[in-house]
Amino acid sequence: MIVNYMESMVDTVLKNEFTFSPEKYADICRCDSCIAFIKATALNHLSPFYVTTVTGEIYGEYRHKEIQNLSDVMVAVAKGIEALRAAPVHQPVQAAAPS
Ligand SMILES: [Zn+2]
Repeated sequence: MIVNYMESMVDTVLKNEFTFSPEKYADICRCDSCIAFIKATALNHLSPFYVTTVTGEIYGEYRHKEIQNLSDVMVAVAKGIEALRAAPVHQPVQAAAPS
């Protein structure tokens, strides 16, 4: 199968951001559509790097790509998060007002 290696890098960087800097992203919705929006926006700022794999697992031989591209991926993920902040995919669900 063919996978865009950048996609797995965006995944990893986004998870790390949420895990290690939760206070920075307290206002960011983590639902599937918002996460997909962040990833798609980030990937649109990156050149794809396609690799072939048998199992879908990406092997260590591409790790050098990761080091080369890490700062670009981090910038792209930040752009995706900012884009979501600027134009939320959906508004937070409001608690119903008492009637
Ligand atoms: Zn959401």
